This record gives sequence, structure tokens and C-alpha cells, in this order.
Amino acid sequence: MTTRDIGIVGAGAAGIWTAWRAAEETSESTDVVLLEKTPRVGTKILASGGQKCNLTTTLGPRDAGPLYGDEAERFLRYGLWTLQPSELRRRFDAIGVPTKEAHLQKIFPESERAVDVRDALERETREAGVEIRLERPVQDIRFEDGEWTAAVDDGRNLRCRRLLCCPGGMSYPGTGTTGDGYEWMTDLGLDIVEPVPDLVGLLSPADWVHELAGVDVQTVEAQILDGEGRILARRRRPIVFTHQGISGPGAMDLAEHVTRPRTERPDESHQRTLALDLYPDIDHDDLRAMIVDAASSPGACGVWSVLPDGFPRSVFRAACQQIGLSGKGLMIDDLTADRRNKLIHTLKRLCVPLSGSEGFEHAEVTAGGVALEQIDPESMRVNGIPQLYVFGEILDATGPIGGLNFQAAWSEAEVAALAVAEDLSDS
Ligand SMILES: Cc1cc2nc3c(=O)[nH]c(=O)nc-3n(C[C@H](O)[C@H](O)[C@H](O)COP(=O)(O)OP(=O)(O)OC[C@H]3O[C@@H](n4cnc5c(N)ncnc54)[C@H](O)[C@@H]3O)c2cc1C
Repeated sequence: MTTRDIGIVGAGAAGIWTAWRAAEETSESTDVVLLEKTPRVGTKILASGGQKCNLTTTLGPRDAGPLYGDEAERFLRYGLWTLQPSELRRRFDAIGVPTKEAHLQKIFPESERAVDVRDALERETREAGVEIRLERPVQDIRFEDGEWTAAVDDGRNLRCRRLLCCPGGMSYPGTGTTGDGYEWMTDLGLDIVEPVPDLVGLLSPADWVHELAGVDVQTVEAQILDGEGRILARRRRPIVFTHQGISGPGAMDLAEHVTRPRTERPDESHQRTLALDLYPDIDHDDLRAMIVDAASSPGACGVWSVLPDGFPRSVFRAACQQIGLSGKGLMIDDLTADRRNKLIHTLKRLCVPLSGSEGFEHAEVTAGGVALEQIDPESMRVNGIPQLYVFGEILDATGPIGGLNFQAAWSEAEVAALAVAEDLSDS
């Protein structure tokens, strides 16, 4: 079997980018082979952003970094500066995919077609000379006699001098990502942070929540509370009620706090609640003043008169019902001081009980994965293991909704491509 220069496992966002760029950055005689389990490349790109592909963010590295959390921010710093979101847009523009800004700091292709992003990357990759082998499910990877073998079940193995491994996580398993890489990494002795579903809808047992299915709230701060009512994390993004619970970026961005079992205090209850601050721009005192003002103004005034423009009355009524008030037809001056205080408290903290998440089947990403301290962020090489580079969603680095997960994958893939090109030129 011929030994190839660069083998890549997984033709997702990270794999296809790194294949293209590694082929561009190395001499023409360098052969790059990309192995993909499914019959096509970039399946998740096609499914992304409602098939429009939110491919990056308007934020620069300084503002985007903290959104990944402390450890991942440190890990991604080099990559985010190496391939910044603005540079990524320029690169896509250069390959015929001009981009545009959208609400909530998102960047989409101007065409709003994810397929354009995938097709352009596939075309550039093939034109750069990469050999793409589809329907090659890798079973195992092993290092023998100074070379890597990616073993495919029917014996169509790939031997290579450098192996770049980016088989993704285990979210949306129907797209090909079934967590295969974790076992390979464990066999190599690497530590894995338990993979859990992230960026996924949350389940609630409460009937009043299900009854609001389809209603969205655009201006809201979602907070995750622990069993003692302490705020663990907060996110100001829209939410939408569903037949099973609550979804939308505000809820999905906080999912890891629900899906990850707490290990540090096993005796502690894992109970989680999603609290909604329905008036995130107004504090308790100002909200009280608004209600008192409305109550003292001439003429009878319905309680909903204090609602911000566009705020769904059905959610307001549900909040009222939580404290035994009928929101329908209720006049502000009917409220006693005690009820007014309860109403204010509920509007600032409408508690949605949670019972879990919609799981990996519906999760946009997997949180957890290969622990970051084992990877060199300036090359994506695995510390202590020769000629192996690991990156993409298989790593323990995820960000919130908004193009940040693709950006992490593209940036890491760029770093790996530059590093492998340099390694080969040195060897
Ligand atoms: C529905 C949905 C919508 C999303 N929308 C967005 C969005 O708009 N913006 C955003 O930033 N992020 C979005 N994401 C997240 C984004 O898709 C991922 O962060 C990104 O694809 C990760 O890139 P990756 O290359 O590491 O993994 P993947 O893109 O998952 O690629 C991994 C590849 O490896 C292949 N593979 C797996 N195992 C093997 C094996 N054994 N042998 C060979 N090949 C294998 C898989 O088939 C797959 O092609 C979305 C995710 C989903 C599921």
C-alpha cells in the first residue's frame, strides 16, 4: 500500500477546510487524501442555520473569544487570530461566496444557501488536488513504523505520514457523526471530557409551557438556576416555547448546564430551572414605578398596558396565572401591593421547570470531547503522539449559536493546515 503524505478523517467543516488549505500550502507533489464516512462532504454545512449556513460572526477575535468560556477561549486565541472572522469572509468572497451580516451578529452567504458554501469548498478542495474518498467509514487509527493507518472495514485502508483527525462529535448522528473518534482517542490514552448534547431544546414537564407552543419572546434574558435558585449562567437571546418545553437560542445556548451531570458534588441535586427575565432592560423598582404610574393614570387600565411593544400577551397571561391572577381583563388598580410585588417578581423571573433536553438527536453540537490541554493550540498536534493532529467538534471547545462553532472549526482547521505544511517542508 502506498503511503500518502497527509490523510484526513472526516469531511465536515473542519476536514474539508484543512484539506483544501493543506493542499494549497504544500508543494504540488504532496498528496492529500480526505476520507469521509457518508456519501457526501459537508453534510452539517448543508443542514446549518436553517439551510442558510450561519458561517461566522461579525465579532472580532477579542469579542468572540470569551463566548467559548475561559478554557476554550485560551485554546482558541491563536486560531481566532490566525483566521479571523473578517478574513474568513474575505476568503469565502474570493471563492465566489460573498457574505452578509444579519441580526444577532450573524454572517450568512448573500445567497442564503448553505449549499453554496459546501459546493464552493468542495470545488476548491478538488481543484487543489485533494483526493476525496466518500463512503469510507474509518474503524480505527493506529501508528506503526512511523506511519499512521486509518483502517476502513473492507480493507481499503489509508496509510499516511501525517494524520489529521476531525470526525466531529455525536450530535445529529443521522448526519454521520456518531462519536467514532472518542474511542480512537481513548485507545491512544487521551482524556475525554464526557460528551453531552449542547445547543439543544430543553424539556419541561409543565403543561402551561406546552400550551404556549409556537410563541416566541424576542427580548428576554434566559437564566439557568440550580436547585437553590442560584444563577449558573445567563444569555440574552430570543426563546420559543415548544410542545415539549422551550427552545430558541436563549434556551439552547444554556443547554450544557442542564445536560452535563455535576461531578464535583455528587450529593447535590441536579435540578435545573430556566428563569425568564421578561423585562431585562427594566429593574424591579422601575417596573414597580411603571405599574404604579399606570394605576394612577386616568381611566381603567388593563395590566397588559405595561407590556413592551410586541410582547406576547399569552406569555404575560401565563406569568399572571403562575401567581393565581387571571391576566385576562385584570385592571392594574385591582392589584393589591402584595399581588403587584408578586407580579413584578414573576415577570422578572418566570420559572420554567426543566426535566432534561431533546438529546443528541437534536443537538446542534456536542459539548465535551478531547480535553484541550492535550492539544497544542498553535498546530493542533496532539502532545506526545507523533504526526497526529486533532481538531473540530471532537475537541472540548464549543460556543453559543451565532456562527461561532463553524468559526472555531475553520480557525482550528487553518492552524492545522499551516502546521502540517510546515512539518512536511521541514521533514
Ligand atoms: C442542524 C445543525 C445546524 C447547525 N447550524 C450551525 C450554524 O448555522 N452555524 C454554526 O457555526 N454551527 C452550526 N452547527 C454546528 C456545526 O455544524 C459544527 O460545529 C461543525 O460542523 C463542526 O465541524 P466538524 O468538521 O468538527 O464536524 P462535522 O461537520 O460534524 O464533520 C465531521 C465529519 O466526519 C465524518 N465522520 C465521522 N465519523 C467518521 C468515520 N468513522 N470515518 C470517516 N468519516 C467520519 C462525518 O460524517 C462528518 O462528515 C449546526 C449543527 C447542526 C447539527
